[in-house]
Amino acid sequence: MTAVTQHSALESVPKGLLIAGEWRDSSDGSTLAVEDPATGEVLTHVADATVEDGRAALDAAVAAQADWARTPPRDRGELLRAAYEKIVERTDELAMLMTLEMGKPLAESRAEVAYGAEFFRWFSEEAVRVHGRYSVSPNGATRLVTMKQPVGPTLMITPWNFPLAMGTRKIGPAIAAGCTMVVKPAGQTPLTMLALADLLEGLGLPRGVLNVITTARTGAVMEPIIRDRRLRKLTFTGSTAVGQKLMEQASEQILRVSMELGGNAPFIVFGDADLDRAVDGAMLAKMRNMGEACTAANRFYVHESIAGEFSERLARRMGALTLGRGTEDGVDVGPLVDEKSRDKVQSLVDDAVAKGARVVVGGGAPSGPGWFFEPTVLADVPVEADLAQEEIFGPVAPVTTFRTDDEAIALANNTQFGLVAYLFTQDVSRAITTSEALEYGMVGVNQGIVSNPAAPFGGVKASGVGREGGFEGIEEYLETKYVGLAL
Ligand code: NAP
Repeated sequence: MTAVTQHSALESVPKGLLIAGEWRDSSDGSTLAVEDPATGEVLTHVADATVEDGRAALDAAVAAQADWARTPPRDRGELLRAAYEKIVERTDELAMLMTLEMGKPLAESRAEVAYGAEFFRWFSEEAVRVHGRYSVSPNGATRLVTMKQPVGPTLMITPWNFPLAMGTRKIGPAIAAGCTMVVKPAGQTPLTMLALADLLEGLGLPRGVLNVITTARTGAVMEPIIRDRRLRKLTFTGSTAVGQKLMEQASEQILRVSMELGGNAPFIVFGDADLDRAVDGAMLAKMRNMGEACTAANRFYVHESIAGEFSERLARRMGALTLGRGTEDGVDVGPLVDEKSRDKVQSLVDDAVAKGARVVVGGGAPSGPGWFFEPTVLADVPVEADLAQEEIFGPVAPVTTFRTDDEAIALANNTQFGLVAYLFTQDVSRAITTSEALEYGMVGVNQGIVSNPAAPFGGVKASGVGREGGFEGIEEYLETKYVGLAL
């Protein structure tokens, strides 16, 4: 097999809009630039869809819906299984595209390819396990038949931080359930999604089942689709602010919605924790994706008896990481996605320091091109610091101490978000009672990563509604219909 280069990866990916099984240019011929965040240079251009293109994509999804819903579940499942195999086979090419457009090191991109592919494998197995129910009414006069049917044409809007996996965990269950779709990847990272769509088309996915549009006119193109009465579902992964706006638009026709929104994960280390495990977990929870993950540990609450040692050990590990372009060997930490993100991380660090935090390691952006930020540990972070309430989305670990379990839980819950929390303890009772008290959709106990295709991923409060993955994941794409049969 020939080695994948930057050039070969960029050459092979389609740059158009996928509508009704055909790759097209934008109807007004415009394009949008895709940049390399390690250099700020333009990598390539993709089509910039117009409102008319958006409508055409929905037309195609609507036209394909009835046949697709009738396609045997086994066929839909086998297609997903074949796609899983193909993604794994093309790992290097997909990872290269992801690293080029998003910045993370190739090793992390390969890990995302493996993770993203698993959703297709999981939902290939779920496609044939959609069950209804038959029961007798309490008065015995009626038979109650409960059936599950595909929701129908779905709009999927995905973010830039996991360009493949945030797509596969929507596309996988939709294919399994028999829904057609229009997918809109983030403007910064369209290439991975275009390559995935090409791969699915190549495996014989019927035309119109999956339509992909890329656009710089995001709001203007998305809103008419969301307000179109033929659309039956909106699934969105991204920021809470945009999610709120989309829920308002979706309320007009009471659309089914799934919202995977922002996080502000607390990472609690109790005094009895195994410190080696806690530091390993912290590195994973903080540094996966350079901290650009909704699941990233955002606030470290460490018992005062071990906080000094924890911060020092974490700082040694963080300080030893190598920054650089993700395509280069030996790089642990790539650039942040754009200048705005890098500046936001800097301002959160500056605010914490102005309010009394101490920089143990890092603290700033290195000189030179690209949107890099040094892996940073802050100690003695006061609870008033802005980063206690805001998503950092960068490689910064702020450490605050606590005395009692109740104090740690109160600090952890003191946020509008509720996606994931982490806790480290060797006491099983404490692990269970704390898990119960945390107002979060997911809890990692003695582990710094919770993502798993077989688990229901999702949040409460401002972190969203709905779940992706697990048995729950396919339910988001199914309606329940009850048929009453009088005897
Ligand atoms: P974002 O700005 O909300 O963008 C996400 C997507 O929404 C992009 O495709 C974006 O398109 C689109 N969008 C923006 N404005 C829109 C509008 N008015 N109408 C329709 N679509 C619109 O978020 P982001 O900065 O890309 O992603 C980071 C956020 O995602 C973080 O808050 C993170 O926590 C969250 N996230 C959550 C999960 C989860 O599972 N809970 C997973 C990953 C990320 P353009 O790119 O064209 O603007």
